[in-house]
Amino acid sequence: MSRYIGPVCRLCRREGTKLFLKGDKCFTACILDKGKRKAVPGMHVGRRAKISEYARRLREKQKTKRMAGLTEEQFRRYFRQAEVMPGLTGENLLRLLETRLDNVVKRMGLATSEPQARQLVLHGHVQVNDKRIDIPSYAVQPGDRIALSEKVRQNVAVQQSLQTAPKRGPVPSWLEVNPAHASGKMRGWPTRDEISYPVDEQLIVELYSK
Ligand code: SF4
Repeated sequence: MSRYIGPVCRLCRREGTKLFLKGDKCFTACILDKGKRKAVPGMHVGRRAKISEYARRLREKQKTKRMAGLTEEQFRRYFRQAEVMPGLTGENLLRLLETRLDNVVKRMGLATSEPQARQLVLHGHVQVNDKRIDIPSYAVQPGDRIALSEKVRQNVAVQQSLQTAPKRGPVPSWLEVNPAHASGKMRGWPTRDEISYPVDEQLIVELYSK
């Protein structure tokens, strides 16, 4: 299945929660904050019915997948990878998503949203250990140095993103950021509390374990 390219606020309405897919707008002008259009999108669905256990698990997976901007196939691949790693599958899954290069770029404050971070990577503006990497799914490892190319450092969107980064939340302790140079370093693996996905990963494990 291909990536979703429709209106992203619709996805938040579908999940009934903020997925933060539009960058700074999600903090300043979110339709969910205004208390409007909370209903599930669609012509004939006006309110949320009581949902089954299966639907609860499915929604948690959809929420996570949409926040990460992944297709079903990509998400399943991450799950299979998490299953064979030592430790808790759900936590492994979230750690794999959290340390993707596009997510690391976002968490460093170099981009306001996952789509913007992905674009920076895809356009070849991101370097890892002084080497250009244009793969959003690249798995960043502790000790890796991440930097934007000189060409894009003064870009208006990047500068704005760095300025508004504190409003979106503090830099997690597993990352080190030097905003003046639009660069940073991954210090170590994030703990579960430091992972930015506000989901119940156990529900995803239960869904795929059926
Ligand atoms: Fe979701 Fe952001 Fe749109 Fe709010 S503004 S509904 S958080 S994408």
